[in-house]
Amino acid sequence: MVEGVMMQRSCARAGAKVVLATRYGSRVRTTCSTAVRAASVGAPVRSGPGKVSLSCVGAGSLAGAGASAGGAKGARRNLSASSSQVTSTVSEVQRVLGIDLRGKKAFVAGVADDKGFGWAISKALAEAGCEIILGTWVPALKIFETSYRRGKFDENAMLSDGSKMEFKHVYPMDAVFDTLADVPEEVRTNKRYEAADGDFSVAGVAKRVKEDYGNVDIVIHSLANGPEVQKPLLETSRHGYLAALSASSYSFISMMQHFGPLMNKGGAAVSLTYLASERVIPGYGGGMSSAKAALESDTQVLAFEAGRKYGVRVNTISAGPLGSRAARAIGFIDDMINYSMANAPIEKELAAEEVANVAAFLCSPLASAITGSCIYVDNGLNTMGLAMDSKALERVDD
Ligand code: NAD
Repeated sequence: MVEGVMMQRSCARAGAKVVLATRYGSRVRTTCSTAVRAASVGAPVRSGPGKVSLSCVGAGSLAGAGASAGGAKGARRNLSASSSQVTSTVSEVQRVLGIDLRGKKAFVAGVADDKGFGWAISKALAEAGCEIILGTWVPALKIFETSYRRGKFDENAMLSDGSKMEFKHVYPMDAVFDTLADVPEEVRTNKRYEAADGDFSVAGVAKRVKEDYGNVDIVIHSLANGPEVQKPLLETSRHGYLAALSASSYSFISMMQHFGPLMNKGGAAVSLTYLASERVIPGYGGGMSSAKAALESDTQVLAFEAGRKYGVRVNTISAGPLGSRAARAIGFIDDMINYSMANAPIEKELAAEEVANVAAFLCSPLASAITGSCIYVDNGLNTMGLAMDSKALERVDD
């Protein structure tokens, strides 16, 4: 009986949301399943393929990209299931709210496989009809393109309308260089940089994007690098510290400097940060905690400056732990995932799509008054002041 009432309420809520989405022409109060169907029919249709340098084939879904990350086997089985339940709820909400980014272009920096936040954000934006242009780190470009061509990412490239996510272009990029003149000779001639087919500096890529595709609406910064990340701060060298800030924080300033002038008014930029900026997370070293603190502070200043200068919004998402390639390189991501599942208010593993959907929201007109904010998408872990699985909380019965 109680369940029945709750169902009716949620149906009414779903119906109300469909009524809100008047661009779909739906003004009738409807049942829950009809509401979801109506919203699905009205889901944005992706625009034409345009100039596509990479496309992929195959079927599947991105669900599980985050869920495939570490953790104890038994725990992971349970939590993966609850994670995918949440994921389907999230994409349902996205359809009902009708985030519509058709006719918009996004430049996403920091995609070199299908496991990280950059891929998931690209996919969420593509779901909303946005065209995606990538900036991929030069040393990672060849393996990314080869894997893509061989269909390694096919399963995770499938959009809900049955089409596959396509990228208009993938530009080789290295976000630690503002101009080509900044690139030292040993890097230019390094074998790992052979994949570069032109100017791969931030300014160079912005210029190429402008020439090839005109303005963009969305800029995503989903990259970080700290060569001494495994060293405690106390043992970090000046070089390692500055390198972490250069790759992980200044890179965003540089992107806003060079892509800002290309951004249409009303556009939005989003970066990814981590709780280590404000709480001590032993193991996240090499100045990476400082780099994230700088990124968060810069988000506010850039929001003001770019808001006044270009009329765009700037936000950052503080994401919970995800078993991405970069996170695996740090070496303790499985522990962080397990810790979060044991101690966060929501006891499940974070899925990359949950972060991606918030990024799509932040880039949409639905978030038109949100700028300079750090939004936590971490199952609420940031709110906790007590580790629920602490041994100190254990009661020993006599
Ligand atoms: P990822 O490996 O998918 O993404 C990191 C990307 O940065 C890679 O594609 C890499 O090629 C790129 N990169 C490194 N140096 C670069 C450079 N100089 N120029 C251009 N690109 C460069 O891993 P991810 O975890 O999805 O990371 C994306 C963002 O999310 C990062 O800012 C990271 O700090 C943040 N984040 C990650 C977690 C997590 O647990 N994985 C949690 C919170 C925040």
